[in-house]
Amino acid sequence: MPYGWIGKILRIDLTNKDISVIDTMKYAPQFIGGRGISIKIAWDELKPGVGPYDPENIMIFMTGPLTGTLAPTSGRGMISSISPRVYPDPWFTRSNVGGYWAPELKYAGFDGLIIVGKAETPVYLWINDGHVEIKDAKELWGKGTLATQKILKDIHGEKVQSLCIGPAGENLVLFSTIQHNLSNASGQAGFGGVMGSKNLKAIAIRGTGGVEIADPSGFMEACKYVENLVKNGPNFVYMLAPKVAPPDRINCSAACPCNCEPRAKRNVPAKISSGFLTMMEHCLDPMFSWGWERTEYNREDVPEIKTKATPGFDGGIDVQCLNEDLGLSGWEYVNFYPWFEVFVRNGVKELKGLKLDIDSPKFWYDFIRMVANREGVGDIFADSVIRASERLKDLRVPEELWDELKRVAHFIQPAYGFPSHRLGRAAESQPSPIWIFSMLHWAFDTRDPMSSHHQSSFIEYIFPPHHGVPNPVANVPFKKIKTTYEKLFGNGDIIEPGFEPMDEKVKCAIWHQHRSCIKDSLLLCDWVFPRTFASFGSQEELDKATDLVGDIDAESKLFIPATGIEMSSKDLEKAGERIYNLERALHIRNYNRNRKVDETIEWVCELPEKTDGTKLDKDIFNKLIDTYYKFRGWNKTNAWPTKDKLKELGLEDVARVIYR
Ligand code: SF4
Repeated sequence: MPYGWIGKILRIDLTNKDISVIDTMKYAPQFIGGRGISIKIAWDELKPGVGPYDPENIMIFMTGPLTGTLAPTSGRGMISSISPRVYPDPWFTRSNVGGYWAPELKYAGFDGLIIVGKAETPVYLWINDGHVEIKDAKELWGKGTLATQKILKDIHGEKVQSLCIGPAGENLVLFSTIQHNLSNASGQAGFGGVMGSKNLKAIAIRGTGGVEIADPSGFMEACKYVENLVKNGPNFVYMLAPKVAPPDRINCSAACPCNCEPRAKRNVPAKISSGFLTMMEHCLDPMFSWGWERTEYNREDVPEIKTKATPGFDGGIDVQCLNEDLGLSGWEYVNFYPWFEVFVRNGVKELKGLKLDIDSPKFWYDFIRMVANREGVGDIFADSVIRASERLKDLRVPEELWDELKRVAHFIQPAYGFPSHRLGRAAESQPSPIWIFSMLHWAFDTRDPMSSHHQSSFIEYIFPPHHGVPNPVANVPFKKIKTTYEKLFGNGDIIEPGFEPMDEKVKCAIWHQHRSCIKDSLLLCDWVFPRTFASFGSQEELDKATDLVGDIDAESKLFIPATGIEMSSKDLEKAGERIYNLERALHIRNYNRNRKVDETIEWVCELPEKTDGTKLDKDIFNKLIDTYYKFRGWNKTNAWPTKDKLKELGLEDVARVIYR
């Protein structure tokens, strides 16, 4: 048995009820785990031409070598499949989820779970200490995610951890979630609908095993060391957040010692005491419950977009809980509000009988139910904002408004059908140079690229105004940020506004992409790794520090004693590069990914940035992505990895396929 990994991946074909086991070490350590092993399995198994709801679509639920251990923030798991929400056409991507199911899967004897096929009638999986059963789920079908999990606990015991879908997933809503506990969800990719298409209602897991560690005492030392790095919060931005210790703080995932957004506990227990509570989603919480209002633009060339959560505290929590129970992504509510606001502003008060009373909590309760059940006009909105914007005739909207409503929809969901999360343009502003990193991550990813971008985007909090925040959240002299970049990347000017030094800016973005692959594969929390920035206990501690450098070797320091395999940060980065290139190769082979697709995001970046007025023109954009292809070792004409690059990464077989 290997150390860190369990050594077994379960494979279930729901069509013929075939259950088998694959050796994890076919893929590890070269693809690490999580996102990395998933992309290798997809490369091996997923044929071109398969759609998200075809039985041939594959669902991969993967853990990593640190999952189920005490490694800080290691309680998360990765789900990968063809996403139905990707626009204009579905493709393969990923969506990770925290909680307790991933460690439980390892304790039950498996590193991962591959699901193909389609059951004839609704079923759920019962994975219990190495034994697997496909069980009848007729009684669960139609139930909300909370009731489903409660019933599974009643049947299989209180310690069971479940992933399940609600009515939204059963009805193939494009932004339906796979839910775990109250508030952990694989939310952005619409994977709830993929489970629904397979007639798979839930996966219930119970395990009493453990994870073998190569060097237990060395690993405990490493865990304590990393806990000290992260305990004050994800990074320096959070040092002023109130320090709350368990049990008053409830972290979203197993093995997380981080002082992460403790407001959740403060808000929620008054409303819910279901026993499923972990934590409200960070970003949605203020929008739902605090009535946070922001107007990002006020320019003639950019539509006015308002995000305002008017249900207020009680209504906001209820709206989000209803989303979670029905298995819907709350982000889509945040997208529908500003879109509907444009309808109302232009005098459209009703859509095929749906009164746009968007400042009323009742409107949202009714709307969310209609969408989850695809009732009436909810059937159109169940296909997301961007696709609904192509159905304005069906919605009987006056034709003179179509252009404006389509334009706003594209601002809200600017690329691949995903919300404009940290794009730096459209519905969010970010000062230069942060948006250049955002733009590069968006250009080349397969979804909204938060796992690449969270760490660099944290700096924006000291460049207000940002999200309507007028003052820096922390008093950090710019010199300290520059010194940090100097130490990490050899050039502090990377963080200066503007496009130069372009080579260094591009290399920095590529580095973050590789580190994103590492954390998504080990699996560690997106907020916390890599430790580019330190977190501090107080402003005084930060004032004393000459820079903000965290420890970018933290992952390697955990990995080596856990697995007994000597992989330095550089070795892990090479694995990250291998994973990123294999993702590109899969998208070339299955979806004809090319330079034109990479340019999808360009139109947004040609708009002036709100805070400093910088913008791209076509020439600068071309220069940026040419530079990117150069440092990636990709052909700049078709955006493919060169044969030499694939060979360097040990992917000769992949080169033979895409170059044949
Ligand atoms: S740092 Fe926050 S988001 Fe990350 S695992 Fe911990 S509680 Fe969850």
